[in-house]
Amino acid sequence: MHYRDLCAAYEALEATSKRLEKTHLLAGLLRKAKEADLPELILLLQGRVFPAWDDRKIGVASKMVLKAICQASGLRASAAATEWKRTGDLGLVAQNLIEKKKQGTLFSQELSVRKVFSNLQRLASVGGHGSAGTKISLVAELLASASPLEARYIVRSVLEELRVGIGEGTLRDAIVWAYLPAPLSYDEEKKAIDVQDRERYNTLVALAQAAYDRTNDFAEVAKAAKKGEKALEEIDISLGTPLKVMLALKEGSIEKGFGRTGMPAQLEYKYDGFRMQVHKSGNRVIIFTRRLEDVTRQFPEVVEAVKTRVSAKRCIIDAEAVGFDAKTGAYLPFQNISQRIRRKYGIHELAKRLPVELDCFDLIQLEGKDLLESSLKERRRLLSGIIRPEERRIVIAHALTTADQAEAQAFYGDAISKGFEGIMMKSLEGGYRPGARIGTWVKIKPMMEPLDAAIVGAEWGEGKRGGWLTSFTIAVRDDEGSYATVGKVGTGLKEKREEGLSFDEMTKLLRPLITAESGRDVMVRPEVIIEVNYEEIQKSPTYSSGFALRFPRVVRLREDRNEPSRISYLEHLYKGQGR
Ligand code: AMP
Repeated sequence: MHYRDLCAAYEALEATSKRLEKTHLLAGLLRKAKEADLPELILLLQGRVFPAWDDRKIGVASKMVLKAICQASGLRASAAATEWKRTGDLGLVAQNLIEKKKQGTLFSQELSVRKVFSNLQRLASVGGHGSAGTKISLVAELLASASPLEARYIVRSVLEELRVGIGEGTLRDAIVWAYLPAPLSYDEEKKAIDVQDRERYNTLVALAQAAYDRTNDFAEVAKAAKKGEKALEEIDISLGTPLKVMLALKEGSIEKGFGRTGMPAQLEYKYDGFRMQVHKSGNRVIIFTRRLEDVTRQFPEVVEAVKTRVSAKRCIIDAEAVGFDAKTGAYLPFQNISQRIRRKYGIHELAKRLPVELDCFDLIQLEGKDLLESSLKERRRLLSGIIRPEERRIVIAHALTTADQAEAQAFYGDAISKGFEGIMMKSLEGGYRPGARIGTWVKIKPMMEPLDAAIVGAEWGEGKRGGWLTSFTIAVRDDEGSYATVGKVGTGLKEKREEGLSFDEMTKLLRPLITAESGRDVMVRPEVIIEVNYEEIQKSPTYSSGFALRFPRVVRLREDRNEPSRISYLEHLYKGQGR
């Protein structure tokens, strides 16, 4: 497939925010693609060259891209930098400069989707001495044969900022539109869809979703759909390929929790560790994280526990790995064991010093039988049948089934007093929905007190946030009156003024306070105070306060205050978290 076809689709997709129109465009593109092109095409459409669970990064800095643009267009670096500052978007810079260069040249080599994909993938594997030069050449090579429009999307793909906006639901529907004899038609002029048989259409969409839930790969779904409905139906979970994990909605009270799960519900402790999806096939065990990275090598004790204490030959278990003190056996917060995930050496020694227990709470597949449609009650029953628990190695998550508010409240109190993060409430009848945050799983955690923080630094944004300050470094005050940082926050601010406190407004407030600039980073006088919410306070060496806010979010401006909260207040809140 020609890369220009993909770029034409990108451009059209970018120009509309209407989901139906996007679906229609995508379906048209998919119909054109050969089966062999589907894997690459589908990844590129999502702005990637590796699947979501592959943590390889293209890893090319903006500055390198700028050099590649200069190399390909023959323009001076200073001129390109000016253009970058003006537009805030390197994709546009590339487009404009290639446009200028191309005037007069008639010939350029046609780029294929395959060529672009392969150069992008190669970028990720270039490392070591001289790697910057190689990366620049790989990008420049593509740009040299690119049309202006192609240049725009090459640059955005290299920077992993495609911003074309294709949701998973849209891609799924497009596959149905493209390949299955769906009972629908699309009116180009009215941009409207006419579904003749809604029920049948919904069935096909559900089928595509089920196939995606099991493979986690739209290329697989598309290939099967191209063959027909039957092939799609036959798609199954495959051991060794990770599924997305099911997620929970947050609710403010047990009563509201029951409102979502129905009664009775299954209540579990919310362990403060990290998610593990464990695949067992005979003597082979593979462990995936919540982000679906393979961390098998890092957790030899978990592999051993699963091999010896899980009787099933083939299964997929969903669990939380919780750290504990090797001497006392007391559970430790996630922070203490987080280093184990990335550890590449001294693994066995670290496993002894910072061991984890596997707290199993769900079963996704058993002896080849897919359990996604089975009820939680049934999955839990099967789970209990295959695990021989052993404390501080592998256990089944503690659970209580109840329809009684008071009993549930007591369970929650018990969880908090024992130092757990809170509780999970789960619908007994619900199936396992990979990647979905629907109300059949609910998490209940204590609300944190908001904090007033001073903005002491920020970053100039890129892309559609070009020209605005984003990602604000926030701080509290110590008793001597100096500022101690607690994190960076951008979440909560809006791109449009009508929607609330906006980046634009913040930029206007902060610009006059800038005291120093280096690259995209600025420092500002700490005069703007914002109220922030967060999920938790953690100890952290990253920030000068020694603490970091987890998932901070801007709530509002505190125009009524000119000082942030004290660090002693932060310490007080930290202690109050129940650890
Ligand atoms: P959160 O990260 O706040 O969205 O909470 C969801 C996470 O809690 C899951 O991804 C799990 O890693 C973790 N978790 C701890 N205990 C449980 C449990 N009993 N059931 C499900 N998830 C749990």
